[in-house]
Amino acid sequence: MTVQNVSSFAMGQWIAPGAGARPIASAIDGKIIAQSGNDALNVGDMMTYAREVGGPALQKLTFHDRARMLKALAQELNKHKDALYDLSYLTGANLRDHAFDIDGGIGTMFVYASKGRREMPDSHVYMDGPPEQLSRNGTFLGQHVCTPLQGVALHINAFNFPLWGMLEKVAPTLLAGVPAIVKPATATSYVAELGVRIMIHSGILPDGALQLISGGVGDAMENLTCQDVLSFTGSAYTARKLRGHAAILDNAVRFVAEQDSLNASILGPDAVPGTPEFDLFVKEAHREMTTKAGQKCTAIRRMIVPESHAQAVADALSAKLAATPVGDPRDTANRMGALVSADQKQDVLERAEILATEATRVFGDPDGFTPNGDPNGAYISPMLFLCENPDAAQRVHDTEAFGPVSTIMPYRDVDHAMELANRGGGSLVTSVITHDGDVARKAVMSAGAWHGRIYLNDRNSMAESTGHGAPMPHMIHGGPGRAGGGEEMGGVRGVKHYMQRTAIQGSPDMITAVTGRWQPGAAESTAGAHPFTRRFHELQIGETLHTAPRTITLEDIEHFAHFTGDTFYAHMDEDAAKRNPFFPGRVAHGYLLLSFAAGMFVQPDEGPVLANTGLDALRFMQPVSAGDVIKVRLTVKHKTPRNDEYGEIRWHVTLTNQEGALVAEYELLTMVAC
Ligand code: NAP
Repeated sequence: MTVQNVSSFAMGQWIAPGAGARPIASAIDGKIIAQSGNDALNVGDMMTYAREVGGPALQKLTFHDRARMLKALAQELNKHKDALYDLSYLTGANLRDHAFDIDGGIGTMFVYASKGRREMPDSHVYMDGPPEQLSRNGTFLGQHVCTPLQGVALHINAFNFPLWGMLEKVAPTLLAGVPAIVKPATATSYVAELGVRIMIHSGILPDGALQLISGGVGDAMENLTCQDVLSFTGSAYTARKLRGHAAILDNAVRFVAEQDSLNASILGPDAVPGTPEFDLFVKEAHREMTTKAGQKCTAIRRMIVPESHAQAVADALSAKLAATPVGDPRDTANRMGALVSADQKQDVLERAEILATEATRVFGDPDGFTPNGDPNGAYISPMLFLCENPDAAQRVHDTEAFGPVSTIMPYRDVDHAMELANRGGGSLVTSVITHDGDVARKAVMSAGAWHGRIYLNDRNSMAESTGHGAPMPHMIHGGPGRAGGGEEMGGVRGVKHYMQRTAIQGSPDMITAVTGRWQPGAAESTAGAHPFTRRFHELQIGETLHTAPRTITLEDIEHFAHFTGDTFYAHMDEDAAKRNPFFPGRVAHGYLLLSFAAGMFVQPDEGPVLANTGLDALRFMQPVSAGDVIKVRLTVKHKTPRNDEYGEIRWHVTLTNQEGALVAEYELLTMVAC
């Protein structure tokens, strides 16, 4: 087999390995398959290139442009999935594992592409939360906005998920408008390199938006500024070294760390043997031990179970592990592949030895183990430990054996279970398998502060649940303390890690000008023609229609009540309505007012308005009685293109009475032809 040169991609050029290159062995037979690294790589220059070329090019695009770019990249990666699978086998991963790393990585990119289009504006400034009224008359407002950092994101990744680990960071970074430099772990860098090659060769990305370091990071750390982000995934040991670097401390560089974690899974006291929850617990525990041969940052390291069922869990899980063939990941008969390298295997064996000082091994003998694969491959037997006295133990709570190794710990009651879960010192995820809502609530109250994610599963959700160990792009991934104190993904939250949040204060006109969203109190305009006769691109932010007035009569209220069946007493019975603290007497239905409003502002002829798709933030502020006169104001608040045919117009609508007092306010959504 030829040795693959794992190149870097720097300043638009592919740079092959050179002086200082390190050999990389295959996980499945120990043979050298690749080399990576080049001491001559100038990472400082790459960072300057990213800031000066990639950043400005990305920042010219809107969030929607960048979201479309992510979708195109994900489609391109999808086309080359088989090539990625083929390389990935050499890391010890099997087809099931590819679903997490390769499909999961591409899927994450698709989710960001979709969220960028649905939840972010087609402009350059992201509004973070609603405007704040800072003055009595509304002439001075506050608004938090996010704009892209003007630096570079340096992503240093762990070996276990070479594709997912890269894409889950690259997607929110590019969506934010920030260029990325990716440094994969050397052991599996050949998979990440192929991923980058596919993305670069697609021609979808602007120059300088994505670069790749294969090998060491050179002078990267010294070159970090306050506009950069260092996002690290790996061991606590490396995280500590990076976190303490002078440039990080001196320049207050954003540093996100996702590190190792002693994740737990708790079997609820109700989940006794014979219940669907007991079987579910064993199934998930088995999956977490064997997927990626246990090399998952989220894998279950500690199983916290009622003391009366500890032996039953040990027996059921041992039986499943015994029926799990381990060997060559390309052979689908094998359910578990190899660790990434012989070094990793050695590391796992050493840590299992540490666990053995406080716990008894109840499954898996590393010495008497024969895999269904090359003897030089990094295969290892799954190992299950039982720690009878987890209160007195320490190493079972702080030793991460990054392989198919887990420890069962008995608990007395739910408080004790949570106490044990929290002894991991902060984790990425804890699961609670229970059908009892009280147990779930107690778990969240006493363990929420210690864990980035709490995964609750039972008979009702098990068929569709996403798995203890699978971080979802919609939800945050990260955890306190031992887990690194970082946070990634979580939908748009993850994009904000690469943007600066700034508090903008000014008049409604200024806030409208900055954000592209009309604010009440800002200037209104009129085009002369009715806005419903104007196409998407013709409508202007702030364009307003004021309707003629309409008087509400008792007949209107009666008619609406009988027509709809809404004969609630406040609309029908004067005395009863008067006894209600909210009403002066019989009042008009809120929905009657909305319906009248539509009748007052609509332009009925066939025209560019295609459909009413919803209504947001509806508030009724004042009751309307028979004899009151209402008027409607309709203003273009925001425009979101959807496709070549139509876009969404968000209208700000107010209803006022004869005294000019606000009686109702809402945002109306319509699709309008382009
Ligand atoms: P690692 O040894 O800490 O390496 C992680 C990354 O840091 C690699 O890219 C490595 O590059 C790089 N690195 C090492 N020393 C460095 C330095 N002085 N300066 C700059 N970069 C440096 O961790 P690993 O063995 O790859 O990964 C396994 C660990 O990661 C496990 O403990 C696991 O729990 C954790 N992990 C956590 C998460 C999470 O999301 N929380 C996810 C996956 C893994 P080289 O490979 O070139 O040395």
